Amino acid sequence: MKDTFTGGCLCGYVRYEHIGALGGANYCHCPDCRRTTGSAFSLGVRARVDSLRIVSGQVNAYTKIADSGNEITRQFCPECGSPLFTRSPAHPEFVYIKAGTLDDPTLVHPICQIWTAMRVPWADIGQGLTAYPRGRLTRSPEDPK
Ligand SMILES: [Zn+2]
Ligand SMILES: [Zn+2]
Repeated sequence: MKDTFTGGCLCGYVRYEHIGALGGANYCHCPDCRRTTGSAFSLGVRARVDSLRIVSGQVNAYTKIADSGNEITRQFCPECGSPLFTRSPAHPEFVYIKAGTLDDPTLVHPICQIWTAMRVPWADIGQGLTAYPRGRLTRSPEDPK
């Protein structure tokens, strides 16, 4: 029996499936990933292009020359803007799936982090912060007025 992993964007317009075992994931701290995710870093799961299929909807794409000098094409939902896939013409056999778009993100296995020279200090969450298992419902003294 083949393993099939499914995922999609926030609004549900784009749905995809991946056939076969998922590859390892890498955190990327580069400035482009920071901007495109709006967060500290991106987490991409490496997959073979021929194992990924978009089953509904279609993606828009934006291509930019990265700091590596390679072209990177970032694909996203045209309706809700969720980042979904990253591709590089230098490595056309691979596609990186944004880890958080998988229906079962607990299957993601990070194996490394890249561009750590550009990591922002707040990317290291550390252990000392107050942890909320779910949302934070009450105001705290540090909140802006
Ligand atoms: Zn969407
Ligand atoms: Zn990056």
